[in-house]
Amino acid sequence: MVKTFKIASIPGDGIGPEVINEGLRVLRALTEKLGNFLLEVEVFDWGSEYFLKNNKMMPIDGLKQLRDFDAIFFGSAGDPRVPDHISLWELRLAICQSFDQYANVRPVRLLPGISSPLKNVSTDSIDWVIVRENTEGEYSGAGGRVHTGHPEEVGLDVSVFTRSGVERIQRFALELARSRKRKKLTFVTKSNAQRHGMVMWDDIFDNLSTEYGDVDIDRMLVDAMTTRMVLNPSSIDVVVATNLHADILSDLAAALSGSLGIAPTSNLNPSGEFPSMFEPIHGSAFDIMGKGIANPIGTFWSACMMLEHLGEHNAASELMIAIERLTEERKVLPSDLQGNALTSEVTDRLINLIMGQN
Ligand code: NAD
Ligand code: MN
Repeated sequence: MVKTFKIASIPGDGIGPEVINEGLRVLRALTEKLGNFLLEVEVFDWGSEYFLKNNKMMPIDGLKQLRDFDAIFFGSAGDPRVPDHISLWELRLAICQSFDQYANVRPVRLLPGISSPLKNVSTDSIDWVIVRENTEGEYSGAGGRVHTGHPEEVGLDVSVFTRSGVERIQRFALELARSRKRKKLTFVTKSNAQRHGMVMWDDIFDNLSTEYGDVDIDRMLVDAMTTRMVLNPSSIDVVVATNLHADILSDLAAALSGSLGIAPTSNLNPSGEFPSMFEPIHGSAFDIMGKGIANPIGTFWSACMMLEHLGEHNAASELMIAIERLTEERKVLPSDLQGNALTSEVTDRLINLIMGQN
């Protein structure tokens, strides 16, 4: 029996459509080659163009339309003509929060052939997974603005940490660390300066981590963590941090592993009640959009994570092997990786590698 998965594709804005189209071409090539599963892809034209016509980023029943898909394949939200807090909150964050995609998982590896801006690091010096809390914390959306435009104006963003929200993401990270070879977890906090929510974050971890005696645990303040990532990358395995802290750490991680254009992410609803969402970490990249030079590798790797999530482990591993051959041979790479290939040429080469052509 050939299994069929329903995929909702939301290319979104800027370079989003440029990379998602290439990701879909790769997925089609893989299903043709392997023949043991099918992807039924529906494309949604939501995003900033949609906003400019309809004054919203997606239809009112958008979440209902996505509800029954097996996974969501997302590009990017953000357009110079729409305020960023609207494009982000009304689409990507609306999906992550409503579908309870509480675990944002960001693998970081220095792929073969790719050089890090750090001196003296080899391919195995950077092999991390950053686990980001994805539904609350600093991005809870709680807050407000009063007396707008007046000298006495006040702006508040309130971080909201709930015991259940904190516990589930920390447990997710502890389990992930346990499942990996090195079984290490770095717990990131900022409880010296943020003395309420972050102290609760620490207390909950103290308690939970006693169940994981087999995991090698260490703790870092988030500012010190940035220096450790730069100065001692091989000491890191799994990292868990809040929504804001992990957002920042993972952009740094992406740059240290070669380029923001390579980095993938998954927004997981671990219970499986709702679809999970897969996307490259980068945004709309206004400076290069429309030029056809965006790096599609972050999207390919995200597609790989989606296949893993769907249980198509063989397809995922074929795709990852092809990505690594692509970077290792260094024949066809985009400009952010010091190559001169167009986005579509990178895809063509990857598809050749998947199909076993030279
Ligand atoms: P960005 O990730 O779009 O770009 C940062 C830099 O990295 C730019 O110089 C860009 O050219 C480069 N870059 C990013 N992706 C690349 C790729 N695939 N290939 C080659 N170079 C690449 O971040 P930004 O400039 O801070 O944000 C631009 C817009 O994207 C904003 O509207 C922002 O809100 C939005 N954004 C959306 C998401 C998302 O939807 N998940 C994530 C981040 C930013
Ligand atoms: Mn980010």
